[in-house]
Parts: sequence; structure tokens; C-alpha cells
Amino acid sequence: AKQSGRDATRRFSWELKEALTSKIELIQDLRHAILNQEFHLLYQPIVNKYGKVTKFEALIRWVHPEKGLIPPDRFIQFAEESGQIVEIGHWVIQEAKRALASIREVHGDQVQISVNVSPIQLSKQQGEDGRLLAELLLHNTSSRKIQQHNGLIVEITEHLLMNSDESTRKALLAFREEGIQVALDDFGTGYSSLAYIMNYDIDYLKIDREFVQKLGAETTSETLCEAIISMAHALGVLVVAEGVETQEQADLLLGYGCDYLQGYYFSKPIPLQKVLSYQQGKVLL
Ligand code: C2E
Ligand code: CA
Ligand code: CA
Ligand code: CA
Repeated sequence: AKQSGRDATRRFSWELKEALTSKIELIQDLRHAILNQEFHLLYQPIVNKYGKVTKFEALIRWVHPEKGLIPPDRFIQFAEESGQIVEIGHWVIQEAKRALASIREVHGDQVQISVNVSPIQLSKQQGEDGRLLAELLLHNTSSRKIQQHNGLIVEITEHLLMNSDESTRKALLAFREEGIQVALDDFGTGYSSLAYIMNYDIDYLKIDREFVQKLGAETTSETLCEAIISMAHALGVLVVAEGVETQEQADLLLGYGCDYLQGYYFSKPIPLQKVLSYQQGKVLL
């Protein structure tokens, strides 16, 4: 027994070492990833209640020269720990802005793109007045007064608001001034109340897919989704449900009055070329 215990310890520390080594390797490789153009964005359609695509969520992919495709869940956290998320996040925003410009040329000016912004990116990128990141997100400085919304939405997590300070509030205000909308991502996974969240100026709530996927199987999820949607509406906030995979889920959510749906049932994340070749007028506003 003692022997096998020791084996287990050895195996455990070996696995730990492996994990650590690959983490260090990943962080090192991240340094060259932007320069080597190893990142790209995919765009997942978000449909309104009439089934038309009106928005896309930009989702990052890393194609490592040796390791192949690395999903964001496997490197964003490391990039946050190393601080590299600031540079990566900057690239994501610039890339999404370029994409939005070409998508709008094809599909019209109503289309919006939402980008995920890490809390670390938000705190490291803002100046004293919290403006820096917001300015980076500006679609076009000269059109600021003409367009109320510049077409960009930032997705932040509930967690950010829970640990927020004055600078978070300033950053969110700056977004507003620049015509950038704000979506609260993964809603329901944290512990914040809607009332607390409404101290902030939020345009959209995204119901986490954990709840959406239990729709039709668990009545608690149904009650929860319905309650979130009606409370959000009472507070003037639009609701996006993420991770919709079945017609049943879509129908239930629409029945509750959900404003936007996103998930594999409609489309997986797709490359920009495919977004651009979506038939004009048919799918988009
Ligand atoms: P998220 O923001 O919650 O994004 C939604 C994730 O759910 C995406 O995974 C998307 O591909 C996936 N998804 C969409 N519809 C369905 C569905 O119907 N079923 C299932 N099972 N999954 C669905 P992805 O692209 O792997 O991204 C994972 C997470 O990585 C994101 O979660 C987000 O937190 C983070 N992330 C992605 N891109 C970026 C980025 O550019 N910057 C930052 N900071 N984080 C990012
Ligand atoms: Ca998101
Ligand atoms: Ca989400
Ligand atoms: Ca999520």
C-alpha cells in the first residue's frame, strides 16, 4: 500500500510538472503568437426574435504552429496571469472593428459585433479617467456624434462588477459616452443580484448556457430563465440566451420573451468569409 501511495504521489507530481511545463511553454509561445499571426477570430451569429441575424460574437482561436488549434478556455486564463491578455485583447478589438466595417458594407449598418473583454484587460488598459479602452473600441471617432451606437458591444462578466471599484464604473461610463454597448456575460453563474447589477448601465444580459441547456429537462431552469427575462425587462435590459442547441429551448425562451438567441441550433462560430457570403437581406437586418 505504501509503495502504491508513493507511486501515486510520484505520478501526481509528474502530472503537475507536465501541466506546469506546458503552461510555461504556452505563455512563452503566446509572446510570438500575435506577431506570427497565429490568432484569428470566429463570429457566432446572434438572432433576434424574428430569426434574423443582427449581431455576431467574436470568439478568438489560436492555431499553434506545433500544437494546432488551442481553444480560448486553454489559454485566456494564462494570458490573464501573465498580463499578455492586454495585448491580445487589443488585437481582438482592432480585428473585430475591421471585421465590422466589412460586414456592414455587405449587410448594412445595423449589424453589431460583441467582443469579450477580460476584467484584467479592463483594469490594465484604462487611464485615470477610464477612457483608454473605450477609445480603443471607438469605431470611428468622427462619426461619434452621428451614430448613437458605433456597433460594438463589450461583454464583461458578472465577476467584474462584483469586485468593481470606482474605475470600473468610470470605464463603463466611458463606453457609454463612446457609443459602445455593454453586455453582462454568463449571467446566473455568479452570485450578484439583478438589483445590484442595475447600479451599472448595462444594455444586455446574457443568460449562461448552463441554464439554457437544462431547459425542457429541469423545471428550475425554466422558472429561472423566465424570471431573469422578466426582471431584466422590468429594468430596461435586453436578454440574450447563449448555448441554445434545440428547437425546444428556442421556443421556450421566445415564449418567455427572450430578445436574442445564440447557439449551435442556429450556427456555430464561423469565419469572416462565411459571414460576408451570408445571403444579403435574407438573414441580416
Ligand atoms: P463565452 O464568452 O461564454 O462564449 C461562448 C462559448 O460557448 C464559446 O466558446 C462558443 O463557441 C460556445 N458556444 C456557443 N454556442 C454554443 C452551444 O450551443 N453549445 C455549446 N456547448 N457551446 C456553445 P469558445 O469560443 O470556446 O470560448 C470560450 C470562452 O473563452 C468564452 O466564453 C470567453 O469567456 C472566452 N473567450 C473567447 N474569445 C475571447 C476573447 O477574444 N477575449 C477574451 N478575453 N475571452 C475570450
Ligand atoms: Ca461571451
Ligand atoms: Ca457567455
Ligand atoms: Ca460561458
